Amino acid sequence: MKIGVDIDNVLANTFDELSSHFNRFMGKEYAADEIVYALRENKFKTFFYNIDAWKKRVLEGVSPIEEAVQKIKKWSLEHEIYLVTSRLFILKNQTKRWLKKHNIPYNDLFHLKERTKFKKAKEYDIFIEDNIDECEIIADYCPRVF
Ligand SMILES: [Mg+2]
Repeated sequence: MKIGVDIDNVLANTFDELSSHFNRFMGKEYAADEIVYALRENKFKTFFYNIDAWKKRVLEGVSPIEEAVQKIKKWSLEHEIYLVTSRLFILKNQTKRWLKKHNIPYNDLFHLKERTKFKKAKEYDIFIEDNIDECEIIADYCPRVF
């Protein structure tokens, strides 16, 4: 089977660990689960936040969600794992380093904008995503979404 997997908050504990970094940059107090909406609503500031995150390489320090990583390792023995993230493309090398550091196996890694990410989900038998709104949209493209 081909399994599509989101990275942030599925394999990486991103929003929990980077919320203070994000809030300092945005000058507001967002809870970890509000960050995804803040990122969407403030496209302009988000772009600069990403540049800042890239410069400081903050994503490389995020810890993996161990149970999820163990599952991916197990699944990779029998299935194909495709990582699909909406992280900016400039973050690709840092993302690859992080994946290597934590021995996370994958067949390919895609940095896609949300809409393209949804369409990409068509190629997979299963898709794993943490954001409920995105799950609902992905469900139109992929038979099984968790
Ligand atoms: Mg996510």
